[in-house]
Amino acid sequence: MREITIQVNCPHCNGVKVKKNGKKATSKQNVLCHNCKKQFQYAYFYKGANPA
Ligand SMILES: [Zn+2]
Repeated sequence: MREITIQVNCPHCNGVKVKKNGKKATSKQNVLCHNCKKQFQYAYFYKGANPA
């Protein structure tokens, strides 16, 4: 198992200081932006990444 670093920009403020904030029922990764304190999902940033 290796850590995968994914560059994520907040869609609200375009900030890069984001933190994983658990998963939703849809199993999409929920992310919290440190800058604007808003939450969003970055599931669509995955491109062929398999959690298994
Ligand atoms: Zn933000």
